Amino acid sequence: MEFKSEQIINEIINRKEDLIELTQNLIKIPTLNPPGDNYLEICEFLKSRMELSGFNSKLMRAFDTPGDSDKHPRWNLICSRNGGVKGKTVHFNGHTDVVETGKDWTLDPFEGKLIDGFIYGRGACDMKGGIAASIIAAESFISLYPKYPGSIEFSFTADEETGGYGGVAYLANQGLFSPSKVNNVIIPEPLNKDRICLGHRGVWWAEIETFGKIAHGSMPFLGDSAIRHMGEILKEFEDKLYPKLEKIKTKMPVVPDGAKTSTLNINSIHGGEVDHPDDFNGYPAAIVADSCRIIIDRRFLIEENLQNVKKDIYDLLDSIKEKRKNFSYSIRDLHEVIPTMADKNSNLVNQLSNSIRKIIGVDPDYVISPGTYDQKHIERIGKLKNCVAYGPGILDLAHQPDEYIGVEDMLDSAKVMAVSLSELLK
Ligand SMILES: [Zn+2]
Repeated sequence: MEFKSEQIINEIINRKEDLIELTQNLIKIPTLNPPGDNYLEICEFLKSRMELSGFNSKLMRAFDTPGDSDKHPRWNLICSRNGGVKGKTVHFNGHTDVVETGKDWTLDPFEGKLIDGFIYGRGACDMKGGIAASIIAAESFISLYPKYPGSIEFSFTADEETGGYGGVAYLANQGLFSPSKVNNVIIPEPLNKDRICLGHRGVWWAEIETFGKIAHGSMPFLGDSAIRHMGEILKEFEDKLYPKLEKIKTKMPVVPDGAKTSTLNINSIHGGEVDHPDDFNGYPAAIVADSCRIIIDRRFLIEENLQNVKKDIYDLLDSIKEKRKNFSYSIRDLHEVIPTMADKNSNLVNQLSNSIRKIIGVDPDYVISPGTYDQKHIERIGKLKNCVAYGPGILDLAHQPDEYIGVEDMLDSAKVMAVSLSELLK
């Protein structure tokens, strides 16, 4: 079937006001996560919108996933529209949740104010602007060519910011992303309108605990300080592990440059007496800590494997055991994600690249995200390889105060998505 990209592009230009209003309306629903507010409200808003252009939609609650409760139910919305002729399925996925606002806003984070061509609000760039652009892309295409081959799908999902278990992971477990049903997935996360994000680095979170013996703080020699044992681990990290990680470089096009090596963050440390609330104004007790815990966040590269990533740390801990008296520890896995990278030569990436060249007039950049996003569940649980992130907005603005999205950027990326959609369905 022949689709005219000029016509599609014009149709999108005509919908500029609608795009602005849709983005503002999405921002006005405060879907803060945690705890997961107003998921049903945003799904119902999107449901009525999508039904206007002939989408069938289905609300799905991810019962019993982390955070799901009657007070904060994890609602997701799936929409699909068949063109009436056999063909491929193109699926757009967007997360509806936003992170807390934090302080330092100079504007109302849930007003969606438009100033000089930029819309401000929590979630403007991550990723309500991307959701709005993808909807306008599909609506424009459908209004011109209602009888296309194949099917267009949308999923609006919960909880991406907290791991995606009540959102994309849940839907993937229900078979919604199985390659027999879906051919291509585009996630309009804010990666900039001229960049295609092929995947992300891997993650391993673990908790390490050292053990000691409690005693009176005036006679520490009668006890054994778990904090001093932890100090030795941190020293070994500094002396041996960090220099080693800095040398592990990747061929993955990770942005920013600093993330092209393996990294380790120590997320938190706690030892000894518990932290008291701010309104407690007493003195601490004199004790020797019998336990100290850290959470580590290790990000790894496609060239590494998770087993060896873990073994590095186990070996380091065991080497301390050999030389340090009374050193004992435990280590507990918290979370792991394997690195992923979509095929740069796939039809999906080619079509997006061609559209970027045609509409934006530059060669696209192919990037890898330093952190993970919902693509991990689509690949690992859904077993679908043809998935990338492409959408408007500047990644650095995500989660910041006075987050914003440019209207022209949204229009451009909507054009890229719509023309790519027409090519992928052809
Ligand atoms: Zn996001």
